[in-house]
Amino acid sequence: MVQAIVGANWGDEGKGKITDLLANESDIVIRFQGGANAGHTIINEHGRFALHLMPSGVCHENIVNIIGNGVALDIRKFINEYNDICSQGLNPKLMVSDRVQVIMPYHVDFDKYEEERLGGKAFGSTKSGIAPFFSDKYAKIGFQVSELFDEETLREKIGRILEIKNALLVNLYHKDPIDADELTKEMLEQGKLIKPFVADTQAFLFDAVASGKNILLEGQLGSMKDPDMGIYPMVTSSSTLAGFGAVGAGIPPYEIKKIICVTKAYSSAVGAGAFVSEILDEAKAKELRDRGGDKGEYGATTGRPRRVGWFDAVATRYGCRVQGATDVALTNIDVLGYLDEIPVCVGYEIDGVVTKDFPNPNKLNKAKPVFEKMPGWKSDIRGVTDFDKLPKEAQDYVKFIEKECGVHVSLVSTGPKREETINR
Ligand code: GDP
Repeated sequence: MVQAIVGANWGDEGKGKITDLLANESDIVIRFQGGANAGHTIINEHGRFALHLMPSGVCHENIVNIIGNGVALDIRKFINEYNDICSQGLNPKLMVSDRVQVIMPYHVDFDKYEEERLGGKAFGSTKSGIAPFFSDKYAKIGFQVSELFDEETLREKIGRILEIKNALLVNLYHKDPIDADELTKEMLEQGKLIKPFVADTQAFLFDAVASGKNILLEGQLGSMKDPDMGIYPMVTSSSTLAGFGAVGAGIPPYEIKKIICVTKAYSSAVGAGAFVSEILDEAKAKELRDRGGDKGEYGATTGRPRRVGWFDAVATRYGCRVQGATDVALTNIDVLGYLDEIPVCVGYEIDGVVTKDFPNPNKLNKAKPVFEKMPGWKSDIRGVTDFDKLPKEAQDYVKFIEKECGVHVSLVSTGPKREETINR
């Protein structure tokens, strides 16, 4: 069976933990979009792992982990991360699609220069090269990984593409042009590093699906960051939706039978843009930020503080809907045990009218949150594995979220560790 694990919100919902957990019963885990621009943290018997590009099945020795064709592959980051996790005692099986495209060093430079040029209007990019990479992919001037294996054609193509890149570098960003020989040498070197991992993963997956293997598609970020359904333009550059899993992995769409939408018991977001349920009181925000996740709500890739807010039922219901969620996994509920009352955003007021429908990005900027307060449970529920053992208030909180989202909450995560989970 093929299942997708995707985010309902802005990302950092805890997809990594849920993927690591469900990987116990899986044969293959695939990253199908995004790149090394967001992180996921998993904690299990092998230790604590802050992964960026690696699929979250890497802690399971019997699983094949795949970087699908839809990913933006930064080869040097991939190799560094691979070496890091091997030095932590893991020995993961990894395959990289021969159709995946690679981040070129200039994608990272352009990401940085463009954010600098935009100044106060910057997107808050992680400057990993993601937006320039996907622009080039769809402008048909990207490089599939297999193109790094043939020196002659690589050299010719790099020369051709540098005509465009150098014109921009020199005239728009006032930087030195890129030397074609040096870049060719670097990319040939990167090609050698990645070649042992590269395979026809589409053919491999075709056979795996046919023989009934259990396959997990692991998404990065969440619905709000999808270029079509999210809060454009404060989005990422590849689709974060389960539907894209079929494309970015190379699996028939009708094979995806279960779509687990992960959402946190409160909200967090990174980067600029509308965030209706944001906690604006900085002291209250800091308290939640410092208590959140396993080490506070600070980016796993960048270390920057995440913006935090209360659970947003309007955004999450929409987020689940566009994912096609069959199940919800609610994480980080243990974090809320310090509160007397827990606000939940149940509506948006736009021009004096309250709605429960998530509006398009143009209207969203006008939305003000309508909160309902749920009683807190004022106790430490970390590590509880039985729903009936949760305090009544915590059970009610889960049921309330379930009702608001309209999707069964089948997993409740009560801590960052693999076993700190309730299966409902
Ligand atoms: P992802 O990108 O969706 O995988 O999410 P991240 O890993 O970036 O962020 C989730 C954070 O929450 C990480 O620090 C996890 O270790 C942590 N986490 C996941 N589930 C829980 C939970 O139920 N409780 C607590 N306290 N932390 C959790």
